[in-house]
Amino acid sequence: MNVTKCSSSATNGAARPSPAQQALVKLGLTRDIDLALHLPLRYEDETRITPIRSAREGDTVQIEATVTASAVQLRPRRQLVVTVEDGTGSCELRFFSFYPSHQKTLAVGARLRVRGEVRGSFWGRQMLHPAFRKAEGELPAALTPVYPTVAQLPQAYLRRAVGTALTRVELPETLPPGQEPPIARFDSKNGIQRLFNLREALLFLHHPTPDVALATLQDHSHPAWQRLKAEELLAQQLSQLTAKRERARLRAPALRPRPAPGALALHEQLLALLPFELTAAQRRVSEEIAHDLARTLPMHRLLQGDVGSGKTVVAALAATVCMDAGWQCALMAPTEILAEQHFAKLVGWLAPLLAARGQQVAWLVGGQKKKERAAMLECIASGQAALVVGTHAVIQEQVRFKNLALAVIDEQHRFGVAQRLALRQKLAATGLEPHMLMMSATPIPRTLAMSYYADLDVSTIDELPPGRTPIVTKLIADSRKHEVVARIGAQVAAGRQVYWVCPLIEESEALDLSNATATHVELAEALPGVTVGLLHSRMPAAEKKAVMEEFKSGRMGVLVSTTVIEVGVDVPNASLMVIEHAERFGLSQLHQLRGRVGRGAAASACVLLYSTGDAGRLGETAQGRLKAMAETSDGFEIARRDLEIRGPGEFLGARQSGDALLRFADLATDTLLLEWARALAPVMLDQHPQLAERHVARWLGGHATYSRA
Ligand code: ADP
Ligand code: MG
Repeated sequence: MNVTKCSSSATNGAARPSPAQQALVKLGLTRDIDLALHLPLRYEDETRITPIRSAREGDTVQIEATVTASAVQLRPRRQLVVTVEDGTGSCELRFFSFYPSHQKTLAVGARLRVRGEVRGSFWGRQMLHPAFRKAEGELPAALTPVYPTVAQLPQAYLRRAVGTALTRVELPETLPPGQEPPIARFDSKNGIQRLFNLREALLFLHHPTPDVALATLQDHSHPAWQRLKAEELLAQQLSQLTAKRERARLRAPALRPRPAPGALALHEQLLALLPFELTAAQRRVSEEIAHDLARTLPMHRLLQGDVGSGKTVVAALAATVCMDAGWQCALMAPTEILAEQHFAKLVGWLAPLLAARGQQVAWLVGGQKKKERAAMLECIASGQAALVVGTHAVIQEQVRFKNLALAVIDEQHRFGVAQRLALRQKLAATGLEPHMLMMSATPIPRTLAMSYYADLDVSTIDELPPGRTPIVTKLIADSRKHEVVARIGAQVAAGRQVYWVCPLIEESEALDLSNATATHVELAEALPGVTVGLLHSRMPAAEKKAVMEEFKSGRMGVLVSTTVIEVGVDVPNASLMVIEHAERFGLSQLHQLRGRVGRGAAASACVLLYSTGDAGRLGETAQGRLKAMAETSDGFEIARRDLEIRGPGEFLGARQSGDALLRFADLATDTLLLEWARALAPVMLDQHPQLAERHVARWLGGHATYSRA
């Protein structure tokens, strides 16, 4: 009777969940599989008993001994002091907080297993607050797991929950036969070679045998870990590929040239007009893009190339393919000044060509005059504007295109997913999707491209236009700033131009950063006869534009600025870049900034001024970033180091928020497993769809967010 009552109240859901239960839910540990995948942070070895005599100071050991004395001392502070002996020696246990129940377990005559760190003292061996329990039952055969947890969820409760889940969880094999991941076979003590399946891997990782090399569990190189990581990567690849295949069912206009009789295609005209030859890389990626555009499958391509590799002209060529087919093209950059800088050249090339055929380029930005904007909207709607250039304003709802077929997004990572979706809606009325070309100067390391961007095709410009001189990068402590200023004087006297970058002005007061305005005054004073300009993010757009013009024209020798020049500025005569408080910038940001020089034939330099602040030395990550900058100017290498320093989670950061991050696999090191998963995913979707579905459900089912506790 009683039993029935009890169990009904436990299962009818009326009882409030305990704090521990709530904590489990909060950690996303709701299904058995979630608990089974909640892996230990570390392990405790309770499999061995150490004789007290051989326990050395500093060792963490388990002893089994009998209590010979137990007393509460009041001085120097209240504490329970217990003496235990095991026949080889004695040890004193001290507890500063204790309950009557503890005293009972620790009563004279009790046989205990005690685990803790041994300390030496004048009176002999001691343990402070050791773990203890009655000595009964067999010693465990496996290491004891210690799980990541939160305050409301006691370790013992979590251990039981995981233990129960492990006995219940069903882990049928989801890998197709003969498709095991490339994992080095495990040499167990007996020389038996074996691979772990998921079930064995999980059981092992929760309760490894004491002979395991702990380092292989710590660095996740153990075959059991490898198996787990392989499965995780496979789940991610399967879900990405599914998304890609869903997109593949959509249709886009096929952009093939429809030459008007007698008229030269824009594409050929533009090529003839360029003052330079395309690099082989530019030709290759242009062909990749044109090939995509000619198909009815919507293009979803990322064009990546280091700063200065010449992405703009590739975008322009793609735009001409689109316009030659009789469709509209939109080009967007994240800010007005960038839109203008990025596309000025491109518009300079294309506007006259379009004008010759009675068409034009439309310009759409936020702060536009009403009348101008209305006129722009009208010619976009009528199709008279074959090319639309601007900022986010381009995707606002009121903007109606006649027939948008290609959207080019520069600095794609600064646009959100929602904005990209809005762009796709622009053609929704026709049931078609526009093609999308996203450009990025922050190269995505290959491993990231293969995983997070599996739904994206990638074209890479891996070659800089000829004639660029390598940039020399120097790290200089800001105590030697005056030497740098002197060097600026010499550069300007030689007809060169200089950028001086200060950290963001918004934060300058609070964080005591050198503020751009003060630096401007300081430099102007130190460099008599040199025109020193100032550009910062709070200036009105018109003023910014005027300053940029002065600098471009060469009349201004030094441009002090906040990071507004970060991307897109192109002044080939500038040959020195000074970045103040370089330690505060991110690695890819530093690389972008450095890319502003070295665009002409002159030898260029980048000076990274750093301040060690009160600490007297740089933090480890800041040091890593500056070192990387000094050692390489290859954008891909920089991106790889960035990934290493920050980890993929942060690398993707807010820009990819929403993407489930990998919990176990490490994209920087698990390349082989990733390649295996990438090759297997399509095979599984085609030949074993049910296994694929089960696999994804297992891994991605319940988990929303997961904190690496
Ligand atoms: P990014 O890839 O950083 O956007 P840009 O498109 O701004 O680079 O190009 C950088 C500079 O190189 C521009 O001045 C551009 O006109 C020039 N450029 C582009 N392609 C070539 C080429 N094949 N040969 C010479 N100069 C080129
Ligand atoms: Mg660019």
